Amino acid sequence: MTTLVYLETHDGELTNGGLGLLSKAASLGGGDVAGVVLGSGVRDAAASAGAFGASTVYVVEDEALAAPLPQPRVDALEAVVKESGAENVFLPASVLAADVAAGLAARLDAGLNWDLTDLRLEDGELVGLRPALGDTVLVDVGWTSTPRLALVRSGTFDPVESGGTAEVKEVAASFQEFSTQARLVDHLQEESSGPSIEDADVIVAGGRGLGGPDGFSICEELAAALGGAVAATRAVVDAGWYPYAAQVGQTGKTVSPRLYIALGISGAIQHKVGMQGSGTIVAVNKDPNAPIFDFADLGVVGDLTQIAPKLTELLRARK
Ligand SMILES: Cc1cc2nc3c(=O)[nH]c(=O)nc-3n(C[C@H](O)[C@H](O)[C@H](O)COP(=O)(O)OP(=O)(O)OC[C@H]3O[C@@H](n4cnc5c(N)ncnc54)[C@H](O)[C@@H]3O)c2cc1C
Repeated sequence: MTTLVYLETHDGELTNGGLGLLSKAASLGGGDVAGVVLGSGVRDAAASAGAFGASTVYVVEDEALAAPLPQPRVDALEAVVKESGAENVFLPASVLAADVAAGLAARLDAGLNWDLTDLRLEDGELVGLRPALGDTVLVDVGWTSTPRLALVRSGTFDPVESGGTAEVKEVAASFQEFSTQARLVDHLQEESSGPSIEDADVIVAGGRGLGGPDGFSICEELAAALGGAVAATRAVVDAGWYPYAAQVGQTGKTVSPRLYIALGISGAIQHKVGMQGSGTIVAVNKDPNAPIFDFADLGVVGDLTQIAPKLTELLRARK
């Protein structure tokens, strides 16, 4: 059984989402595991996948893949699935990968299970785990045909270095005329300093208790004092107080920092599922009955506008 793992690149390096999924695929022990890297100027990055469990990395290098657009990637992936004879194709969820997965499923007439949070082999059969009904139940899902396509929730698996090397194989793809009709006309990059929430060891997350967009300066100052990143709940993202990129939860990112400080967050199940894997959870909330206190390791009942700035001050003084 050959499993192909779709690996995305960012700034010339393979992203952690793909490498984590690659490590997971290798740990299943169900046959050959290969990576696939698509883009322009990605050959060097591709070779590094060997250290995370890929025995082969398929590379499609083409200018048509330079912009982060899904349709040319569907063409390229189709070529690699056919070349490799892959029976499983795993993709780590991202805005781009979700489009690619859907396009590939249509192209190959394949079954796609999405939003998975685990994968395992049971009597040699691939089984996925999918949260359902607002993440209140976990459902085993399977496939009735091959290739089996799996879109896995971002940040679910950590990359594990196994120290191997991979053979890099170039595959030539031909692109459908309709696949190359879309053009990327602009690309805006949000300026930010410090680590991203996916990579941060410490996250300071803010919710509606911050009172408004300006309240986020409390989170930002505390995060800066701790060398961490700022995250947000959907309620504040929907209200336009903070960017979507920082949203943690069912419809945002899954994070697992060593320390997660939740300021003015009630702890709804849809938020919890994105951060419950954190090492230590500290919550500050003025409502002693807030659900977040049911799963926080340390709960502080009080006004965050009084408590958090004092904590920042103490941390700065210590430095
Ligand atoms: C399909 C679906 C998907 C969803 N996906 C997500 C998701 O990905 N991520 C997510 O976060 N949510 C998600 N939600 C929304 C979720 O259900 C909650 O509505 C949301 O998480 C609540 O955000 P909050 O904690 O900021 O706000 P609230 O629930 O309003 O909580 C604010 C908290 O702040 C406290 N507070 C107020 N003032 C202060 C103060 N001065 N000091 C201390 N504490 C104070 C209050 O006591 C309260 O507990 C989703 C919902 C649905 C239906």
